Amino acid sequence: MFGTCVLSINCHTSNLSVSIGQLNEASMLKGRNKSLVTDLVYHEVFTKHEMSFGHPESPERLRTAMTYIKNAGYLEDSRLNLLTPVPANMDEVYKIHGKSYLDSIKEKSSRGGGFYTLDTSVNAYTYEAAIIAAGGGIEAVDRIMAGKTSNAFVLCRPPGHHAEYDRAFGFCFINNIAVAANHLIQNCGISRVMIIDYDAHHGNGTQNTFYSSNQVLYVGLHQDGRTLFPGSGFPDEMGTGPGFGYTVNLAMYPGAGDLSYELAFTDVIEPLADIFKPEFILVSVGFDCHHQDPLTSLGLTTSGIAMINTRIKKIAVTHASEKLAYFLEGGYNLDSMGMGSLNVLEELMRVPITEFSDLYTESASCIEYTKALIERTRKTAPLLSEVIE
Ligand SMILES: [Zn+2]
Repeated sequence: MFGTCVLSINCHTSNLSVSIGQLNEASMLKGRNKSLVTDLVYHEVFTKHEMSFGHPESPERLRTAMTYIKNAGYLEDSRLNLLTPVPANMDEVYKIHGKSYLDSIKEKSSRGGGFYTLDTSVNAYTYEAAIIAAGGGIEAVDRIMAGKTSNAFVLCRPPGHHAEYDRAFGFCFINNIAVAANHLIQNCGISRVMIIDYDAHHGNGTQNTFYSSNQVLYVGLHQDGRTLFPGSGFPDEMGTGPGFGYTVNLAMYPGAGDLSYELAFTDVIEPLADIFKPEFILVSVGFDCHHQDPLTSLGLTTSGIAMINTRIKKIAVTHASEKLAYFLEGGYNLDSMGMGSLNVLEELMRVPITEFSDLYTESASCIEYTKALIERTRKTAPLLSEVIE
């Protein structure tokens, strides 16, 4: 059942939400997460979508992630539920993408393939994989809302955060996280969704979907668009109309690493969450922020990415009864994909985080740039500046 939210306790029940609001976070979490299970949303068709030989957005990315997870023993762990998703109800997807555009993906796939741009193309499985990825996201958030699972990692391909209303772009076709966020707001009684996108590339499609909404706070942490595709995500992109202030972009300097991201969470992202008070946290995770990624120039280590996940989980516990779902976007170094995916799952499952020894030291000038960027953001981001004044 995907057309409406399956639940209950948190949906459509204002009287109950008032009484829940009087409880502390710990008791909310305890009451909601009876099973303490994490959903890993995965389907074999995600590995059948392939764009061209040698393309960095390859099926091997998911195979490597699953190998790391399997080798750690989690596929047999009762705290993990391996969820095989089904295709999205297309009415949900039509709210985010035009029907004629979606039909064009279907048509190209049925013909065996076709191109949108030089680096973004379709094969015979792309349409099926894309609508199942979107369906997996909807099912994941529905199950979290219903208390059937604690949280979720949608380990999917193709990724989604660059996909626009009527345009495939940057290896993306259907914006999975946007479909899920819209579903939460339209069908589940959720009023405030915080999307944290820490893929190295700016999530232009997600930002544009909710640019005039004050129900979705989009926070993008990415490499500065002057130095990386898609060339957007600048600090002056803040939303429009009622959505003004509900888009916040931190365009990080190339080389920004663990300390820069730690500062960003302490001084911008956590204060934003305290003001916005999200009811559900969605994460676009891209392991291309890792220093070994071949397409980007950021400087995070695996332990730095794990730190980000811990900070996000803390926000989810503090504000949203830990209602938290991760959606895979990019990441093109296979080891980084494997290590990062394993660590995301471990954070969600509340098990010890496997430590990896990759090292990277960001420069002092990079840290100074980040500090200046944060200071400017605290003064100019409408939600933050109203509080600071
Ligand atoms: Zn990316």
